Amino acid sequence: MSQSTTGHEYDAPGDDEPAFECAYCGRPFAREDLLALHRGQTHPAELDDNEVAAFREAHAAEEEAIGSFRLRALGALVLIYFFLLMVYALV
Ligand SMILES: [Zn+2]
Repeated sequence: MSQSTTGHEYDAPGDDEPAFECAYCGRPFAREDLLALHRGQTHPAELDDNEVAAFREAHAAEEEAIGSFRLRALGALVLIYFFLLMVYALV
């Protein structure tokens, strides 16, 4: 395991699983886009152009995922609201 600059040592379970390790602090990530997000947020000054591009891409994908989650959550709330309204009206 590598020693990080923050003084923490990370030990990912399942050593045979391919993990993406941060080149700056050695922290392992399960997915490459998570590593790109971490690099952009924790080491923004040390990134090269490719890593900045990877961060932007991962960040955009994350925003999109959050946006569609919000939409589905709102849809579910509206459905529950109308369901309760109908129950209230009928009972
Ligand atoms: Zn790092």
